[in-house]
Amino acid sequence: MINWRIVKMHFINHWVKILIISIAILLVAVTIYALSTLESFHRQIMIVQMPVSILIAGIHATIFIFMYLTFLRGGFAKLDKAPIKGKGVNIHWDDVIGIDEAKLEAWEVVQLIKDRHQLHKIGGKIIRGLLFIGPAGCGKTYLAKAVATEAGIPFISMSGSEFVEVFVGVGAARVRKLFARARNLAYGHGGCIVFLDELDAIGRSRTFSFMGGQETNSTQNQLLVELDGLKDKSHNVIVIGATNAAESTLDSALLRPGRFDRKIYIDRPSLEGREKVFSYYLKTVKSDPNIDVGRLARKCVYKTPADIQNIVKEAALIAMRYGKDTVTHKEISEAIERVDMGIKHKRTMSGGERRMVASHESGHLIVMYRLHPTDDVFKASIVSRRETLGIVYSQPREEYFTSSRNRILANIKVSLGGYVAEKLCFGVTSDGVATDFKQAMNHAHNMVWKYGMGPEGLLGDYTSIPPSQISETTKDKLNSETNKIFQLCYAEVEELLNKESILLNRFVDELLKKEELEYDEIETIFREYDKEDVKNFKA
Ligand code: ZN
Repeated sequence: MINWRIVKMHFINHWVKILIISIAILLVAVTIYALSTLESFHRQIMIVQMPVSILIAGIHATIFIFMYLTFLRGGFAKLDKAPIKGKGVNIHWDDVIGIDEAKLEAWEVVQLIKDRHQLHKIGGKIIRGLLFIGPAGCGKTYLAKAVATEAGIPFISMSGSEFVEVFVGVGAARVRKLFARARNLAYGHGGCIVFLDELDAIGRSRTFSFMGGQETNSTQNQLLVELDGLKDKSHNVIVIGATNAAESTLDSALLRPGRFDRKIYIDRPSLEGREKVFSYYLKTVKSDPNIDVGRLARKCVYKTPADIQNIVKEAALIAMRYGKDTVTHKEISEAIERVDMGIKHKRTMSGGERRMVASHESGHLIVMYRLHPTDDVFKASIVSRRETLGIVYSQPREEYFTSSRNRILANIKVSLGGYVAEKLCFGVTSDGVATDFKQAMNHAHNMVWKYGMGPEGLLGDYTSIPPSQISETTKDKLNSETNKIFQLCYAEVEELLNKESILLNRFVDELLKKEELEYDEIETIFREYDKEDVKNFKA
């Protein structure tokens, strides 16, 4: 059966083309008829002239287009981008993983779209605007596509940056075109999803300066007009905006009722979510069935599904290079490091220098294990990567969204561990401590100046007022508090490493021998000396 709505939809889309082709066919037919009535001599003249006239017409057209683009539109780069097409996307609900809460909310929308006829009968209206907020790589685009697939309606997408043009009006015209296409598709297929990625590129708070920004304003105004227009039409166009910027950067007009009034927060996956993501992507490669997915997930705190996908891909490449046919824990572990820290460099260091690096890292490691309340050591290495000569790789046991006083203090102590270890083992220290000191200083400074965590109890965020308005005595007091924190931490680390000097030497030797120590190896050594991870006491 022919779907007349679709035929009509195509006709509405292509009527200009259909008209031009019909006229061209007509003209050719008339010409052929006219030529056949001429005497053969005249006919030959006409035919001889034909190539030349086509050539001249072509040259004229080229010159015209060139002038038009250069002088009126700002160069060839401004040729209108590829036409907007409604893609048949095919992302199933089960393919969206790691963001269960967001999925649950989005499912409601899918149901509403599916039951639209029912809804119309009761007089209800489908949601027009949805806003996906969350960091990049968490699957906002994926989820939008899955909504379209599950609801069985077409999906068109455009990114906010595609609307940003130097020339006033081009962006707005593109918005108009996008929505015209969406209404058209919705007419033919009963509904349509418009996905606007990077909404913040056009949705920023509108500025009213004369120094530019007008283009974004006119684009955004057009978007608002289109969004409001959707309310009156019976077409089911659903607009999904996505942004990884904070909600407050968006213009409040966009968030008003009837526009993007339903928000779905898509955050980085939880531990359980990461486990699911790992299991999913490990199925896409040939992997060892004994891989402990839970352990991998714990190692990847704060990672997004896109990061995890990347890690599994990288692991497959590593396995291939080693000539293996399955991906095991070892390759994934190496892939995580590579993604986080860069590729290993082979540098030849003198024996003394290597020992210095090994003791520095052992210092960090012991302090982390014995004093840090939340973070675990996952690996220690004296293989150089990017700018670092060695590294102690650590991760919080769970995700934290704030840091307590104890946690910040522990970070300072861990940073100082390298310096103290160098001093204990060699009596002198190296310039390798610069970044550690910088971090430690930063933490101590913020504790006193910003968080009211200083020992003398000076409360308030002193960085929020101009320095000229803080009295010199207050500044002196703040700085001496910062220094006090620094010194207290230093004393504690020195005491610990002095006490654990045998353990320290043992780790230096192990690192020099093996270059890299994994979590299990580190834990075994601590157990040998009857030392517990400080975090185990908390539980
Ligand atoms: Zn260090």
